[in-house]
Amino acid sequence: MRIKFWGVRGSVSCAYPDFLEYGGNTACVEVDVMGRTVVFDAGTGLPWLGNDLLKRGVKDVQLLMSHFHNDHTGGFNYFKHIYIPGCSVTVHAALNYGELTIDDLIRRHMSEELHPVQYEHLASDLTSHGFVAGDAFDLFDGARVKTGMLTHPAGATVYRLEAEGKVFVYATDTEHTPGRPDLALVELMRDADLVVYDTCYTEEELPTKQGWGHSTWNEAVKLCRMANAKRLALFHYSPDYDDTMLRALEAEAHAEWSGAFGAKEGMEVNI
Ligand SMILES: [Zn+2]
Ligand SMILES: [Zn+2]
Repeated sequence: MRIKFWGVRGSVSCAYPDFLEYGGNTACVEVDVMGRTVVFDAGTGLPWLGNDLLKRGVKDVQLLMSHFHNDHTGGFNYFKHIYIPGCSVTVHAALNYGELTIDDLIRRHMSEELHPVQYEHLASDLTSHGFVAGDAFDLFDGARVKTGMLTHPAGATVYRLEAEGKVFVYATDTEHTPGRPDLALVELMRDADLVVYDTCYTEEELPTKQGWGHSTWNEAVKLCRMANAKRLALFHYSPDYDDTMLRALEAEAHAEWSGAFGAKEGMEVNI
């Protein structure tokens, strides 16, 4: 499995020089597995991944959405694949929105008030798959996905992708309760080769952000140790944290647990 980070920022993109070492685009992670392309979240990194996929001739994409907040959808409407005949995009997401289907959410995101081109005019083969958090399903032959609910306003989904004997976990946008680790999440992280986790805030800042749905590197390390995970990518950085601050946070996390490193835009990890 080859993992590449195309967007590691949380909340809003940061297009200024002080943010470019770690990266300014919002959540988007590519996983190449068994010759197929799996993408986690459609933040502002997605259009750049899309351009790269087109250059490589990749037309078939499985897109797994953690949820539909702006920082996870901001790149969707600019993902060229959805406009190109012969391209196929399958959007997987949890049905966390009452009666709304995943199709409804995509349509809404491309409504006339928000975007010049509407869903009806997309030329690609765009389909959606709604599931209930906690479900497991085969993404394709040999690639198993397990899901769970994270603690986040309106809900977010954690994904555990198992293929070719490797395990990748994408767990972003989750708020922990101090002193009460999320044991269901630990089970989904069990023995993972790589965990991507929401480290939006510091322990000092977190009390001022209660109910915003985010976590810290300290909690990430704790959960990884409990789950016997091998490596941890810090992810979904606050837009208030520039490179100098992120370098310091990464060093602290790495000193605490050598499996921890800071995800950077453009970085590739093989597991
Ligand atoms: Zn987010
Ligand atoms: Zn969110």
